Order: sequence, then structure tokens, then C-alpha cells
Amino acid sequence: MGPERAAVSADSRRARREAELAAQAQVPPHPLHPRRWLPRFAVLAALAGITVALPLTENVSPGNGTFVAGAQAAAVPLPSTVEALTGVVVTTTPPPAIAADGTTALRAEVAASRSEERDPLPGCDGADRPAGANGQLRTSDLCTLWTGSLQLRGDAAYSIAELNLAFRARFGRDLCLTDGYRTLAEQRVLKSRKGGLAAVPGRSNHGWGLAIDLCSPETKGATGRWIKENGPIYGWENPDWALSGGSGPFEPWHWEYTRGVMEDGEYYSS
Ligand SMILES: [Zn+2]
Repeated sequence: MGPERAAVSADSRRARREAELAAQAQVPPHPLHPRRWLPRFAVLAALAGITVALPLTENVSPGNGTFVAGAQAAAVPLPSTVEALTGVVVTTTPPPAIAADGTTALRAEVAASRSEERDPLPGCDGADRPAGANGQLRTSDLCTLWTGSLQLRGDAAYSIAELNLAFRARFGRDLCLTDGYRTLAEQRVLKSRKGGLAAVPGRSNHGWGLAIDLCSPETKGATGRWIKENGPIYGWENPDWALSGGSGPFEPWHWEYTRGVMEDGEYYSS
């Protein structure tokens, strides 16, 4: 490239630059694009000022804003230029109600309920196995459930009462039961009425105070699903023999306190 062409090229660039400057002078400044016209120091001044000014605006309430004044300002991201000049805070964090799924919310609700009511069955100390044979336990050794009449041995009663608290938190009422501890005499009456559908007297886990029968409607729909999901968490199961296709009669309402049954009960009987 010779000197003449270089001079022409320099003149050409100067002329183009002058044309650009003239064009910029005629364009009115856009309020959302201040970088096109504001000197850099003005932008910085606006950003610095806004960290103090924003908490006073309606858009950011005290204690709830994302901007802080003073020394703390360096620790948080500066607002974008759009945010700074319009006062509109742009957030990308979803609110807690959207971030949490239903299961998490329900578990939190149950946990809160359980912590508020630490004694699920007042008057029941949750003591273990009472003396006596199947169906011949002293009722004074058992704990009375929320129904006011049904009884279970202490540990089973305590755990089903905890389950009931969770059930109440979910459905707003108590779990409906028809049977708990059953005396030998009661089991004999039941056997004479129901035949093969009732356990041999002396071989029922009801006789150890380790089984309950749900009201039949509880085993269906939303409550049935809830109990299947939550019963085992509290140590209660609908035993294998009572399942559809199990070795015994189909009894979706019959639930047992598994640990007690495995230690002391009739694992295979109703
Ligand atoms: Zn039963």
C-alpha cells in the first residue's frame, strides 16, 4: 500500500467517523438504552445511587428487597441497568409455593402437626407386652384409643395414635376403626358367626392387642391409598395373608403392628 492510498484511506475513515457522530447527535436518547448516550460515569453514579434509593420505593419493601446499602452492597450482585433506571426488580427465583411439590408440603404439614402434639395418646405410656394369654390380657394393662372404647397394648396403641394424628392432618378427622383388642370370649362369638373368616380363638392377633380393623370405607379411595402409603411408616401393615390372593381371607381392613406380631404374636393368623 503506497502513501497516497494510505492518505485516502485515512481521509475516508475520518469522514465516516464524522458522519457517525453527526447521526448519533440527531438520535434522541432511548430511556432503556442509556449506554447509547450516557457517559459511563453517569451510569455508575445511577447504579451507586439506586442501592440506597430502591428500598424507599414501592417496588422493594424493607426486609424483603434484594438490594442493600453501604458495605453490604458489594456482596450482592448489582442491579442491571434496566432495573436500576426503571425501579423494576427482575427476579428468576420461583416462589416457595411453586418450588415445593405437594408431597414435600404434606410431609412438612405432618411433621409440624406431630411436633405440636407430642403426646398422641394421653394416659398411654406405650409400655410393651402385658402379662396374660391371647385374649386374656388385663384391660387395665392396655391403652384405650381415641374411639373411647377400643384398646390395644401400649406400643401398638401409641403408634396407631401417631398414625391417626397424621391421618387427621391430612383428612381433618379421626381414622375410623371397628375392632382392636378382642377377648377370647369375643373371638369365640366372632368365630361362631363368621366361621372360616375368623381366626381360631386364641390364635388371633386381636387377642394380643396387636391388630385393628378399619371401617370398610377407609380401605378404599384416597384414604385407602393414604393408609397403604403411610401405615408402614408407623409400623402397621396389612399382612400378606390378608392381601388379595393371599393365603388367608381377603381382609383389606385388618392391619397389624408388625414388630409386636413378629416378636409376640401369631404371624400367620387373623
Ligand atoms: Zn382383624
